[in-house]
Amino acid sequence: MAAQLDVQTDVLVVGAGPSGLTLGIDLARRGVDVLVVEQADALFPGSRGKGIQPRTLEVFDDLGVLDAIRAAGGPYPAGMIWQDGRRMGERRIFEPAGATEEAPYPDPWMLPQWRTQEILLARLEALGGRVAFRQKVIGLSQGDDGVTVRFAHGPDLRAGYVVAADGGRSTVRRALGIGMAGETVDPSPMLVADVRITGLDRDNWHIFPPNGEGDGFLTICPLAGTEDFQLVARFPEGTEVDLSLDGIRTAVAARSHLAPEDVTGARWASDFRPRAALADRFREGRVFLAGDAAHVHSPAGGQGLNTGVQDAYNLGWKLGAVLRDGAPASLLDTYEEERRPIAADMLGLSTRIHRGETRRGEATRQLRLGYRASSLTEETRAAPGPVRAGDRAPDATVAGVRLFDALRGAHWTLLTTGAAAPQGYGVGVFLIRPDGYVGWAGETADGVAEYAARTGAEAARRIPSSLICGP
Ligand SMILES: Cc1cc2nc3c(=O)[nH]c(=O)nc-3n(C[C@H](O)[C@H](O)[C@H](O)COP(=O)(O)OP(=O)(O)OC[C@H]3O[C@@H](n4cnc5c(N)ncnc54)[C@H](O)[C@@H]3O)c2cc1C
Repeated sequence: MAAQLDVQTDVLVVGAGPSGLTLGIDLARRGVDVLVVEQADALFPGSRGKGIQPRTLEVFDDLGVLDAIRAAGGPYPAGMIWQDGRRMGERRIFEPAGATEEAPYPDPWMLPQWRTQEILLARLEALGGRVAFRQKVIGLSQGDDGVTVRFAHGPDLRAGYVVAADGGRSTVRRALGIGMAGETVDPSPMLVADVRITGLDRDNWHIFPPNGEGDGFLTICPLAGTEDFQLVARFPEGTEVDLSLDGIRTAVAARSHLAPEDVTGARWASDFRPRAALADRFREGRVFLAGDAAHVHSPAGGQGLNTGVQDAYNLGWKLGAVLRDGAPASLLDTYEEERRPIAADMLGLSTRIHRGETRRGEATRQLRLGYRASSLTEETRAAPGPVRAGDRAPDATVAGVRLFDALRGAHWTLLTTGAAAPQGYGVGVFLIRPDGYVGWAGETADGVAEYAARTGAEAARRIPSSLICGP
């Protein structure tokens, strides 16, 4: 039996995937009345989005889950190419970047998606939020003052805003009639499964290139923090992928030196055909699309979960500012303005990586993404330094304080740097948004008050962190 829901909430988030859980956390910590509903009776059980990119690690630091994420996962192993049962040598999945003061978490971190979601759910619950499982949304209608949401079972629910974080097949997106144009990245079906395997070490991501007999590649990656491996196999176009344990064993034996019985168990298996598609709009009135509901793409490059988390992080503070702090509702228009171009670029990047036209590197870390062209961005200096308005605010030590420590939380931060400015920032005044991007930058503070009024930062009275780095 599905639990009875309250009939009203400020924000209803549909879907308890990584995007929906992140948004739930960000809203709950702002004191917004938020409910996450999920059609399944438990969190998603598979490992699929197993790579947490550096920018997402910074977001997780702000949201208070970084320690748990780091404790549960591990670094990416190097790839090992196999041929005819022999190791042909290691190949790095990406070049490690090395931590710097500006980017303390420079490399992707691995943990299975189900574990990431468990950690996010625990954080949401610690903040007093909750996920209502077995609640399938089947439709909605909206007016000027709210949205009425219909469920497969139980009464309607009234919400001020709805966020569709219900995945690539989004019911909400379809109910709104928002199109999602795209292309097939690869017509070949893929199998992805979490398996137990004997006869392979856990130090490498094992790569078995196509053996030339009509079979596609096989990769077997140890999943940090578990005893499982994530297996991905590509099949010729038109193949009906067999998801049973026997089917997985057959695929492994055909593509590697392993015997069928070396696969001792499978806890989850699925198949997919990589597609790249972008929703025509990320917003319809009081309803927003986030994560896979707004963009789907090849898993190559490990961008999907991360982009969804960052969608949620962009939207969370804006909804909080409008609902709790009296910011103008027009602030919400900047969600699509800022996130849709990022998603569009990410689709292209994932497709190029899938087709072998480029590799993981600086772009897949997502640290250089920003919002310079946004209408929320004001760069007032004639000669901006390396960090400009719209850029991610890099970490630094300012007057003995670690900047990321000062940024952590729901507030804006005013940073004034003088001659002893931290490297990267240069001399100036920087108003840093709650999501860690520089909103406004100037030589002096002239004009920052007007900006703060326009964006709701002033109304929010959330600029307690004023850091001055003198002289
Ligand atoms: C093989 C593979 C490997 C991948 N590797 C990576 C990686 O390394 N890094 C990365 O960033 N991404 C990766 N991804 C992509 C990543 O898994 C997705 O981008 C991510 O899960 C999207 O999160 P989401 O919260 O937007 O949607 P989802 O995770 O799809 O969650 C949507 C939720 O909404 C629920 N729901 C759906 N409809 C309804 C409804 N009507 N009512 C209520 N609830 C509903 C669903 O049950 C689900 O729980 C990979 C994907 C695959 C397939």
